[in-house]
Amino acid sequence: MKVPFVDFLPQYQEVKDQVHAGLEKVFERSNFILGQEVKDFEAQFASYCESAYGIGVNSGTDALHLALRALGVQQGDEVIVPSFTFIATALAVSYTGAKPVFVDIQEDIYNIDPEKIRNAITPRTKAIMPVHLYGQAANITQIVKIAKEKNIAVIEDCAQAHGALYQGRKVGSFGLAGCFSFYPTKGLGAFGDGGMIVTSDEAFFRKVLMFRDYGRKDRYEHIIKGYNSRLDTVQAVVLAAKLKHFDRWNAMRQKAAQQYIKILSTIEGVIVPVTAEGRGHVYQTFVIRVKDRDAVCQKMQAAGIGVLIHYPIPLHLQKAYEELGYRKGDFPTSEKIASEILSIPMFPHMTTEQIDNVCDVLRKSVTP
Ligand SMILES: *Cc1c(COP(=O)(O)O)cnc(C)c1O
Repeated sequence: MKVPFVDFLPQYQEVKDQVHAGLEKVFERSNFILGQEVKDFEAQFASYCESAYGIGVNSGTDALHLALRALGVQQGDEVIVPSFTFIATALAVSYTGAKPVFVDIQEDIYNIDPEKIRNAITPRTKAIMPVHLYGQAANITQIVKIAKEKNIAVIEDCAQAHGALYQGRKVGSFGLAGCFSFYPTKGLGAFGDGGMIVTSDEAFFRKVLMFRDYGRKDRYEHIIKGYNSRLDTVQAVVLAAKLKHFDRWNAMRQKAAQQYIKILSTIEGVIVPVTAEGRGHVYQTFVIRVKDRDAVCQKMQAAGIGVLIHYPIPLHLQKAYEELGYRKGDFPTSEKIASEILSIPMFPHMTTEQIDNVCDVLRKSVTP
């Protein structure tokens, strides 16, 4: 039995009628940019994230970039990011002209290590951008506490953690802003690119609004050099339809994860994901660790199981960041984790048979 890495067709089938009806309205009205549907979805998603305001943008990368710009981050500044994340986290910093400063991760939950953040703070540090990787919250209250002491802002990269909880509260609501991606494979995925910034700070909200729409104060007056970065009305229709089912879909992911963990815990040589205290993990990606990862990866692919690696190269070892002068050995936990992780199939509508099959193939793949 082949098992794909993701299968979102069942999600489409659940929202099909609502999406088609909503799209027909948009097409007939021909109001494609910042239509009412965008406003409505911004309000719905912000409220879902326990935040006062939402600003829809082009992508998750743009959400991070615009949040940093609205914060005033610029050349000469530093922004702390984990050394182990998707590269967009650091790219958003680079776009502003500021320097990303990498900090190693915790080995248990793969998120930035708050203890190590302290040593990375300098007088130039403007922001800390923790990432809630794979669907599990970073140690966000401790990070916010450190940032407060030092008078630094926290911008949360929530691109992989829609709906994830820390002590019962939604990620994205702890820092000055939470930045989300609606890239199709993210927890809440559009039918194309999209992103959102959520915040409860009104002045910050107004700045981000200007940045996403050419720096415009009104129709003809532009007071800053802004960008063109808006969530399409068409994507807002899709996302609003999906949001209604989203908590249930996350519960289905959690159920699938429980089945995986129960079976995989019995296989020697497989490390299953750990949920730290006070977290509500939404398993956007289900990541295990194995020795001899590349061989296991190949065997599983050969057996028709969709597996991927998020991510094999930590940011400090990426060619794109060689100018920063980091070396192998600088962030040992990131390097170790990057060499052992393997993402196995995970999507809300996975069947128990599919999960059993993935586990069977994995069991055979790890035994020499
Ligand atoms: C996907 C992702 C982004 C970027 O989102 P896009 O919508 O693809 O631009 C940023 N950070 C993390 C951690 C991501 O996983």
